[in-house]
Amino acid sequence: MKYKSIRGTRDILPEEARKWQYLEKVAREIFQKYGYEEIRTPIFEVTELFQRSIGDDTDIVTKEMYTFLDKKGRSLTLRPEGTAGIIRAVIENNLYRQKRITRLYYLGAMYRYERPQKGRQREFYQIGAELIGPDNPASDIEIITLTLELFHVLGLKNLTLYLNSVGCPRCRARYRESLKDYFKDKIKMMCTDCQHRYSLNPMRILDCKEEGDRVYIEKSPKISDYLCQDCQEQFEKVKEYLHFLKIDYTLDPYMVRGLDYYTKAAFEIKYEGLGAQDTLAAGGRYDRLVHDLGGPDLPAVGFALGVERVMEVIDKEKISLPSGVQTDVYVATLGEEALKESIKLIRELRHENLKVLNDFNPTSLKAQLRQADKWKAKFVLIIGEEELSGKRATVKNMSTGGQESVPFSELKGYLLRNCS
Ligand SMILES: [Zn+2]
Ligand SMILES: [Zn+2]
Repeated sequence: MKYKSIRGTRDILPEEARKWQYLEKVAREIFQKYGYEEIRTPIFEVTELFQRSIGDDTDIVTKEMYTFLDKKGRSLTLRPEGTAGIIRAVIENNLYRQKRITRLYYLGAMYRYERPQKGRQREFYQIGAELIGPDNPASDIEIITLTLELFHVLGLKNLTLYLNSVGCPRCRARYRESLKDYFKDKIKMMCTDCQHRYSLNPMRILDCKEEGDRVYIEKSPKISDYLCQDCQEQFEKVKEYLHFLKIDYTLDPYMVRGLDYYTKAAFEIKYEGLGAQDTLAAGGRYDRLVHDLGGPDLPAVGFALGVERVMEVIDKEKISLPSGVQTDVYVATLGEEALKESIKLIRELRHENLKVLNDFNPTSLKAQLRQADKWKAKFVLIIGEEELSGKRATVKNMSTGGQESVPFSELKGYLLRNCS
């Protein structure tokens, strides 16, 4: 084979794409219900936008971005996540001036140069939402309940909601110091990544997956002991509302998000039993990002889910999604004249919103019936010489095997009655 898809990318073939369409449909219906409107932003942006928002010393920015110079020498980057571009668009287009609260959602491809593995591609798809304007913890709850409802409608079970507060720059400064103190005499025994993180941002050490390092991490200081009063109160309220709504959650004091813009309450929804890449959705509050990117002082909260991982769980749990694979009518013709007549018929039937298929180089009737079977046709219209001269078609019902002769003029009505 001469050409292959690039490592870390893959084709979504029709059978799988049907499932994706279903997920997208469910997501759109839920967003609609909650008042979220779709926004579509460019696949690439200036590199600086991502450095500013995600953070200069994060793994995403230092190792994983697809960055290139365009023909004028400008540094551009394929978006590694959706939020930065959306906030850029909100500020650039003054969207926040139109309504007190801006509710947006998006679907699309993201790009990160990571080692491809199960549940992790270099081109991957996310569905997400941003709620811009309110700082009330009740708005965190809207994002969390929306995410949970989406998974519920899809029929996903065995999910766990993990919760933590990542604080604000004020509490994080104190927390980082305590981590530096704690890891000071241990960092030499830890992995080289962690040693690097120690000097850049010791909070990232908490994200390390190395067995040997986890032993130290699990005894390290918890951010909950370092939250400022404001962050503390916000986190308590989020937990209180979850109790009030009887939504179960598990505290994860060492959850850190791989993006610097998060503040205060953060959450992850995991499916146990998916291996290392078990996070289906993640999100949280980012109260400073709009301001940091040059906009007004607007708090915000959002989430994103990974489409490939959700699909993996749907397969694993053997959840059958509704699929529109059936064909209403397959038109089988014998001879050039019959083919010509069929073109007109097919056009009329499609105008009635029937799904109609045919073969353009028809061979034997047997071969055409086989194709009709493959397309799961409900009815086959057979048009040969005899049918042409009588201006009638033979209509074969594929589920009963029965046949009827129906005049061309009555075909439309007959099929509409029987195909619904
Ligand atoms: Zn704080
Ligand atoms: Zn490590």
